[in-house]
Amino acid sequence: MPPVLIFDLGKVLVDFDYTVAAQKIAARSDRAPADLHAFLGSSPLLVDYESGRLTRQGFYDAVCGAIGFHGDLAEFGGYFAKIFTEMPGTIALHAELRRRGFKTYIFSNTNDLAIEHVRRDFPFFAHFDGYIFSYEVGAMKPLPAIYAAMEQMCGHTGADLIYLDDRAENIAAGAARGWRAILHETPEKTRAALAGMGIGGQEGFNSP
Ligand SMILES: [Mg+2]
Repeated sequence: MPPVLIFDLGKVLVDFDYTVAAQKIAARSDRAPADLHAFLGSSPLLVDYESGRLTRQGFYDAVCGAIGFHGDLAEFGGYFAKIFTEMPGTIALHAELRRRGFKTYIFSNTNDLAIEHVRRDFPFFAHFDGYIFSYEVGAMKPLPAIYAAMEQMCGHTGADLIYLDDRAENIAAGAARGWRAILHETPEKTRAALAGMGIGGQEGFNSP
């Protein structure tokens, strides 16, 4: 059985930076905290949104209540989701794996505003066999429920899954289920790790 490749999204395939979004949102708000960047990145509201406990509208309403944002949901969403840039090295690695016939999946702690933006702006995002998003599953990595959802979607368990993520706690939870987990730091290191698993190398990948 050939392995399937599981990709985290943020800091693996797309980089993100809340700084510009935070500045634009703060400029339209009455009570934005001095470090709105930290507020947006670490607020329980964002965890609730990305765990599916708040809808897009619910998240927007809660943020407006907290900071006194003046714009509508469309304006807020436009700022909030425009935080991503492509990471070409990993996107190229993913494209190579696809050409070699490997099945690939997205596995992300995220929200529907972010996914709407990524899907619209980044063509690479269409080329996966399936997508597991925390806000749809109702659980964020490293909770077991989202890993179980990934196994169910791809129809594999244990060492059949090769998993790339930049966060150690997420990798540890995958490894605990027997997934072959790679802490993603650079495309070069990840290529070397894949080569060590016998499915790739700098000169190209063996077909499954
Ligand atoms: Mg990540």
